[in-house]
Amino acid sequence: TIGLIALDLSGNITVGVSTSGAPFKLPGRVGDSPLPGCGLYADHTVGAAAATGDGDKIMCYCPSFHVVQLMKQGSSPNEACSAVLADIQRRMGGNQCFEIGLISLNLKGEVGAASSVEFPYTFWNQELDSVKELIINQK
Ligand code: ASP
Repeated sequence: TIGLIALDLSGNITVGVSTSGAPFKLPGRVGDSPLPGCGLYADHTVGAAAATGDGDKIMCYCPSFHVVQLMKQGSSPNEACSAVLADIQRRMGGNQCFEIGLISLNLKGEVGAASSVEFPYTFWNQELDSVKELIINQK
């Protein structure tokens, strides 16, 4: 899945995803990507989030909605992504987790991410000459 969050100079925020879905998927499988709250979520008063990974498991946790709710309650994008990943791990009974990567952005332009596996993501804003690539490997 490619997840993209964009914030314009007027403070409008949007999120979109594009996915090929799961390998060997059955015809008719939907997956998490098009489901609001699961693969993506935006609140124009708070920020937005997107997820990638094992969609059949991701859709059990509504992680994109959860990230945005935590930002609404004051968490930074990074704190929110990390807290949602930790919550999924806790609910699974330990430190194990299926494959999931989360990205988020708030209305201040702050970026966050967390992942159960090594996960590259990029960001750009007007103060940067070029797109920055970061790799997280947070369990
Ligand atoms: N989340 C997608 C799906 O399960 C797959 C992916 O992120 O690559 O449909």
